[in-house]
Amino acid sequence: SLTLGIVGLPNVGKSTLFNALTRNDVLAANYPFATIEPNVGVVPLPDPRLDQLAEVFGSERTVPAVVSFVDIAGIVKGASEGAGLGNKFLANIREANAICQVVRVFDDPDVIHVDDRIDPVSDIETINTELILADLQTLDKALHRLEKEARTKKEAKPALDNAVKAKEILDGGRTLFQAQKEVDFEALRELSLLTTKPFLYVFNADEGILTDESRREELAKMVAPADAVFLDAKVEFELLELDDEESVRELLESVGQQEPGLYSLARAGFHTLGLQTYLTAGPKESRAWTIPQGATAPQAAGVIHTDFERGFIKAEVVSFDDLIENGSMAAARSAGKVRMEGKDYVMADGDVVEFRFNV
Ligand code: GDP
Repeated sequence: SLTLGIVGLPNVGKSTLFNALTRNDVLAANYPFATIEPNVGVVPLPDPRLDQLAEVFGSERTVPAVVSFVDIAGIVKGASEGAGLGNKFLANIREANAICQVVRVFDDPDVIHVDDRIDPVSDIETINTELILADLQTLDKALHRLEKEARTKKEAKPALDNAVKAKEILDGGRTLFQAQKEVDFEALRELSLLTTKPFLYVFNADEGILTDESRREELAKMVAPADAVFLDAKVEFELLELDDEESVRELLESVGQQEPGLYSLARAGFHTLGLQTYLTAGPKESRAWTIPQGATAPQAAGVIHTDFERGFIKAEVVSFDDLIENGSMAAARSAGKVRMEGKDYVMADGDVVEFRFNV
């Protein structure tokens, strides 16, 4: 499954956040004997639609989609030069499908900042610079070969052109993700450049920032087109220790939050990975299934079982809202809200589906 790699400077709250993620781990909770990698946190994607479906279908349980985060220990300045454990960090980042940077914006005189001041802009630049330098090294090695290939093979030309363009962008201090409209990532795929991965920013904030909308907007704008999530990692951990809803609500309110930050983090992570869900429901379970955005009906069926994709005939689809509005599958059907879709149908978020297939 796809993963987000957590990176960040030392002392920004990565471990605190990661501990909260692993405490909230659905695998740990539901499958006590499953082998869980110590550096992976698998969190549920909150989806209130599942509870509503469970009510309509009388399901015994609900099964949410999940998002996986991998803890990549503190990347430091000089990582791209192989200083210390640098190469290992970069190799770990290479394996992740997206990069989730934790940025410190909380003020606390007791917690030392590596550069002696709270400076999110510079922290983000530090990480970007290391990743950019690593990509430039990869490109410098590849360019010579690509030039040679392009001289004899016409098909090699797009790779060369895009590599040249990518080098220009990186030399100018931008990540390729920031310049995604200017380069064709597909042509560069074989190079697995780090900065083509989608980025997500988690601002580890205090109450001052969590309640300051204009400051939050400013920070979000700064990292766009990446998603930005604001939370207080320490509070997130404390929230998981509480067992009654009233205390949870009070603690959230005290930092100006409507819901746990882990919820927004799970949603943003899911979105950053380019994923969406569709839903199935029955007496046994109401369940959210994970598919890439733009997946077709047979591909969606294949997530349940590969036989479903191979033997796909059609999908019976109703939108979640139409289903709830009509109160039951039968009522939605008589209201003409249930559609039969074929193999070219592109799944929409919130589709409730039943597949017909041959085995
Ligand atoms: P890491 O080095 O990035 O993994 O950072 P840690 O998670 O170990 O956090 C470093 C220190 O900052 C620890 O003492 C944490 O308790 C503290 N810390 C982490 N998150 C917060 C936060 O949101 N607010 C405050 N005040 N302290 C935090």
